[in-house]
Amino acid sequence: MAKSTSSIPATASQERHGVAAGLKDQVGGLMDSAIALRRGLHKWPEIGNTLPKTRDQVLSALEGLPLDITLHETTSGIAAMLTGDKPGPTVMLRGDMDALPMPEDTDLDFASKTENCMHACGHDTHTSMLVSTAKLLSERRSEIPGRVLFMFQPGEEGYHGAKFMLDEGLLNVSKLKDGTESPIKAAYALHITTSMPAGMVGTRGGPVMASSDVLSITITGKGGHASEPFRTLDPIPVACEIVQALQIMITRKIETFDPAVVTITKLIAGTTTNVIPETATIEGTIRAVSEKTRNKVHDSIRRVAEGIAAAYEMQATVEIKIGYPVTVNDKPSVDFALDIAESLLGEGKAVHMPSPVMGAEDFSYVLNQIPGAMVFLGGTPQGVNPATAAPNHSNRVMFDEAAMAHGIALYSSLALRTLGVTLN
Ligand SMILES: [Zn+2]
Ligand SMILES: [Zn+2]
Repeated sequence: MAKSTSSIPATASQERHGVAAGLKDQVGGLMDSAIALRRGLHKWPEIGNTLPKTRDQVLSALEGLPLDITLHETTSGIAAMLTGDKPGPTVMLRGDMDALPMPEDTDLDFASKTENCMHACGHDTHTSMLVSTAKLLSERRSEIPGRVLFMFQPGEEGYHGAKFMLDEGLLNVSKLKDGTESPIKAAYALHITTSMPAGMVGTRGGPVMASSDVLSITITGKGGHASEPFRTLDPIPVACEIVQALQIMITRKIETFDPAVVTITKLIAGTTTNVIPETATIEGTIRAVSEKTRNKVHDSIRRVAEGIAAAYEMQATVEIKIGYPVTVNDKPSVDFALDIAESLLGEGKAVHMPSPVMGAEDFSYVLNQIPGAMVFLGGTPQGVNPATAAPNHSNRVMFDEAAMAHGIALYSSLALRTLGVTLN
């Protein structure tokens, strides 16, 4: 058990994990470079799985550190392994690196220089925090019994970047050259959010984020003159009925406590006012927080759409493009992470979220294979109410860079504590 170096007595969580005074000093010393890197990434955002400028910035920031770096070939992913001086298992930390295809309207002096491209989800902060964590833990290499794998991931915003990295063998690192095993014991990811004040973190055991699938339904009828609908098979009222029926299906067929969302976001039909078109298409998104409900919603959408179309002698073709799975946190990893966060940030600053977030995350692919947790990091700008702050994905979103200090401390502590090192 670590003794507090300050006059303030250690809290119960600090009794368990250590007071981390030296670690916090280290984080303080890294903040200038962390902010500089974050702003550099913010200025030159990139989209998808190919992020050459971002990769270059990360690699030059990691230069000189004692890391074994693997550059992924199917994407711009980087796997960087820090091997401690003592043997032990491996812990993985993830930071995603990609931005969004949208304009930036923040007036920040480091605002995006790339047209229609913005780091509006804070992945620039994640990447920078992970680089700083690599620096911090490299300095502590002599006390580390095991290894830390840093996963710098592209393509989180819908491009399945994590899956590409897994398919390329990211996790196939458990066997060392000398034949000893160092399996990946846990994996953690942080996600900054403006809906939680800086200085707080939150997450929950079990489902923490939803699955996300893309829906498209085409109703095929028979076109004709708008004045004589009885000579046609008009797909437009049928499309409207299906849109309504899907909402009824969600409330009547899906368990209230294992919810799902179907939102129709696009209706495509027709060309002018005197023509009944042959087809109408409905598009939207499907979210669920369990695979059971996800499958049930898929089946129900097919039944409802095909059944309604058949009632009017038409055909509905349902296509569901499978997106990210449900992100499921390992409960013990969540308790562990929140207890560590409390020891770093203070009592009441690490919260169990009552319900999942209906957004989706491709860290879900990692958590399907390795126990661990996705943890939200408070990042509302100073003086702004989290309830009214521009949210992640807004063209006006801004994050409190001071929150990065909490993120670096938490990433580092999760790695050290997973490997059994007391925080000092
Ligand atoms: Zn996002
Ligand atoms: Zn994100």
